[in-house]
Amino acid sequence: MSNIAAPPPLRTPRVAIIGAGMSGIGMACKLQQAGIESFELFEQWSDFGGTWHANTYPGLSCDVPSRYYQYTFAPNPDWGSVLSPGAEISAYLHRVADQHGLRAKTSFSTPVADAEWTGGEWLLRTQAGREARFDFLITATGGLVRTRKPAIPGLEDFAGACFHSAEWEHDVPLDGRRIGVIGTGSTGMQITRDLAPRASHFSLFQRTPQWILPLPNFRYHGWSKAVYRRFPTLQRPAYDFWRVAFEASFGRGTVKPGLVRRAIQAACRVHLRVAVKDPALRERFRPDFVPMCKRLVMGTGFYKRFERETVELVDTAIDHVEAAGVVTVDSVLHPLDVLVLATGFDAHAFVQPMELTGPGGVRLSEVWDEEPFGYRTVGLPGFPNVLMLIGPHSPFGNQSLFAISETQQDFAMDAIGRWRRGELDTLAPTQAATERFMADVRAAVPDTVWASGCDSWYLGKDGLPHAWPWLPGRHRELLAQLEEADWELHRDEPPVAA
Ligand code: NAP
Repeated sequence: MSNIAAPPPLRTPRVAIIGAGMSGIGMACKLQQAGIESFELFEQWSDFGGTWHANTYPGLSCDVPSRYYQYTFAPNPDWGSVLSPGAEISAYLHRVADQHGLRAKTSFSTPVADAEWTGGEWLLRTQAGREARFDFLITATGGLVRTRKPAIPGLEDFAGACFHSAEWEHDVPLDGRRIGVIGTGSTGMQITRDLAPRASHFSLFQRTPQWILPLPNFRYHGWSKAVYRRFPTLQRPAYDFWRVAFEASFGRGTVKPGLVRRAIQAACRVHLRVAVKDPALRERFRPDFVPMCKRLVMGTGFYKRFERETVELVDTAIDHVEAAGVVTVDSVLHPLDVLVLATGFDAHAFVQPMELTGPGGVRLSEVWDEEPFGYRTVGLPGFPNVLMLIGPHSPFGNQSLFAISETQQDFAMDAIGRWRRGELDTLAPTQAATERFMADVRAAVPDTVWASGCDSWYLGKDGLPHAWPWLPGRHRELLAQLEEADWELHRDEPPVAA
């Protein structure tokens, strides 16, 4: 008989995942893969999908190729095209969630009001007043969620339908109507491509022109789907191909001056030159900042829409809105039936409006008063056992958030694994390590294209771009393992073996 003691049994962590979008679903799947079922998802909306649930506007698609914009553990052979429409991505997320039985573990239409660290655990309260206790909080609350609506005088007086692009009112008829869209970001561009040919008159209200990279899209043939279905291992090289391509192009071009940046910028300029034949219109579409300073808009076919007589670019500033439509500062009324606000999101409203109260009554809203920050995008000093997915400074913008989030999910799994084995009871990054990380971020941002002089959602209250200022590979490196010196790891007595 062996006298080697059996390892102590694994502990069962109670894990709250806040958000059932791409990150939350992925995290739940990883927990299941590790044999952990003691988790619950809380979702503010009525179904899975996060941003792909909220955004359903006409023309919605993703400008990151789907073979790379998917979970590594759930490759989909059936993508219809290289760049997929939103409905296809939403269906994929539903499928993965349902295949993993996550519906039974998710409380939908259940916004979390707050969570408080008390008695060595998190006491979570939903807005409806339900309370539950957890060992870990995983925030999977997304990056671009809180809609930003413009403070244009008279907007509430508009007699037609008016809504934000992420709150689309699908019962409003569109075909043959007079439609106006405010905003020329990725969303405004995609809506314009779809609605301009359908409207009796279409007005795009442009405050700032955007550079557009003509990224083409291609349909996958039936035979290629059959090949991916028959040989699923081919998905991995396809994923890696697109990852390397996107990291080497947009990942590098945004953070490092040099040839790649210049090549992408040249492609945008050539696109404008070739696609807009009318020189006067071309100048109205020409931004006065360098390409990629704002998040790069990608796609083909946008400029062509303005060759129609019924499609108008309105680049005179908006003065006010009245019942009949939008009035520009030259006193011209642009009559409209439908007004779409493609005016973006508060990209700095991480985790909000949920409040976290850590040990000693420290509130996250106060800690983040100036600007959200964290340790290497995942940790929060002073908030034990909180792990963030797509937290502040995550490398998003022209990269696959699936890939970024999976790196963070794997990091969270490592931390939870240590807890299960009784190696720790609480962990939080140290203040010093977090400050060191943030100082490194601040030192690196001047080299990024986001700091080259334009207004964009990357900029924080301090006027600095709050984005990942290094190559995406550095994110994987920094999260490859938990550097114990950077964390406060507290441990009670290990559990007694049964
Ligand atoms: P956005 O890039 O922030 O663009 C908002 C637009 O609204 C800008 O053109 C802005 O003009 C304009 N605007 C805001 N307030 C205004 C006002 N008061 N009057 C006139 N114009 C006003 O928002 P978005 O297009 O929704 O895109 C947000 C992000 O979502 C993207 O950058 C991207 O990361 C993501 N997205 C991704 C995809 C994809 O295919 N992967 C698709 C859609 C969105 P100014 O530039 O002058 O501020």
